[in-house]
Amino acid sequence: MSAGTWDYSMFWNEAISRIKEEISEQEYSMWFENLKYLDSRDSEIRVSVPSSFYRDQVKQRYLPLISQTLRDLSGAKLSVDFLVQPSNPSARPASSKTPTKREQAAVPVPPRAKEPRKTHKQLKPEYIFDNFVIGENNSFAANAAYAIAKNPGTSYNPCLIYGGVGLGKTHLIQSIGNLAYSEQQDLKVVYVTAETFTSEFIEAIKEKKNLQFKNKYRSVDLLLIDDIHFLQGKKETQEELFHTFNALYDSNKQIVFTCDRPVSELKSLTERLRNRFERGLNVDLQPPDYETRFAILKQKIENNSVYIPDEVIELISKNITTNVRDLEAALTRLIAYADLVNKNITLDTAKQLLKDVFANPKQVNISIEMIQRVVADYFNITLNELRGKKRTKAIVLPRQLAMYIAREMTEFSTTEVGLEFGGRDHTTVMHACQRVESRMNSDSTLEPIIQNLIRKIKEYGAKD
Ligand code: ADP
Ligand code: MG
Repeated sequence: MSAGTWDYSMFWNEAISRIKEEISEQEYSMWFENLKYLDSRDSEIRVSVPSSFYRDQVKQRYLPLISQTLRDLSGAKLSVDFLVQPSNPSARPASSKTPTKREQAAVPVPPRAKEPRKTHKQLKPEYIFDNFVIGENNSFAANAAYAIAKNPGTSYNPCLIYGGVGLGKTHLIQSIGNLAYSEQQDLKVVYVTAETFTSEFIEAIKEKKNLQFKNKYRSVDLLLIDDIHFLQGKKETQEELFHTFNALYDSNKQIVFTCDRPVSELKSLTERLRNRFERGLNVDLQPPDYETRFAILKQKIENNSVYIPDEVIELISKNITTNVRDLEAALTRLIAYADLVNKNITLDTAKQLLKDVFANPKQVNISIEMIQRVVADYFNITLNELRGKKRTKAIVLPRQLAMYIAREMTEFSTTEVGLEFGGRDHTTVMHACQRVESRMNSDSTLEPIIQNLIRKIKEYGAKD
């Protein structure tokens, strides 16, 4: 039977409006407003989605609900086929230049976004969507950010972008500011790090300028606060931000935050502020995959007007897997060298220059105690708790992570690691490592946390 004979659009439309009643408004606008009914075939409804990432998320989150609702309505088992089609190309960020095949499949490349005509003085002019390479790891966050910049205050409010260090949080949040500002110069855009927000607040109290401080932050149209993990333990600043949040939120002003971890992992945060952060849309940035790393390096090179052969880009993409900042650092090293000796970079020189960066040996200068300190500090527990016997949830996960990281970063045996954790048996350490690995498979937020911890440990190690 040919397509066209069937028409299940009524069932689809009715199912969608029932689902709308069942889930939150935010969820609905995030996941359902971009689904478009296409056509029907024998027992099948075809629906378009804007990207493969989107399709996977919708399937994973809502397919059972959709199928059940369709079944209730039609009495038959209707399947749903999601087709990836960019529904509204102009409402998507521009993926920069020469994306790889895989990217093209994952994220359809829309026409380039307009470059901001006028940049905002608090924002870096190069932090724009045009310079942000999109891959599976960040397409969701980038799309949300772009939508916000286009229509601040209307959807995804507030929005929290989280992810490990060097994955593009600052780049994205500033891109929102730059684009929004370039399109509406009367828009009051304020970008501030949580650290600056805190020190300005403390200063305002000292100088008795509380009112000015309040006025400044409560009169903006688009408030961008970077690195809110800095607010942990800062009660008064949290309190102030809470009120700022409410004032802006109640008047439909857009608020965007970034954080180096999911909100649930933040410690020493008042419940009501946590609740505000979790409201709206929380999106994560993952480390880029190989193709995206390659595309990012390509783009950086284009902007640098230095010739670096593809085989060198492959070499870097293969060996540096952590984050974009590390990719950039490797590239900068090569470019600096090329400038200095006035020579082109060959594969051999690149290997030579980046030997120590790639080697990533088990780090001899990292002790188990250093790992314990960084992990305990991150989770806001004491060293003794981390090493001790208590088995509460708040302590068990950090302990297992510390053991896992110790095995990843050092040459110590499971027996040696066990000894440093209150004389535990080596099987406990093995078990902990297995637990962490299996948890990583089911919980995608864990890996960025581990990467973040590893980086902090390296930094800590570099201080000595
Ligand atoms: P974070 O704030 O998450 O630590 P940044 O936004 O500072 O990370 O990003 C680190 C560097 O990597 C910046 O120079 C940024 O421009 C670059 N970068 C990150 N993600 C991308 C991307 N997807 N495309 C191009 N450059 C990126
Ligand atoms: Mg940052």
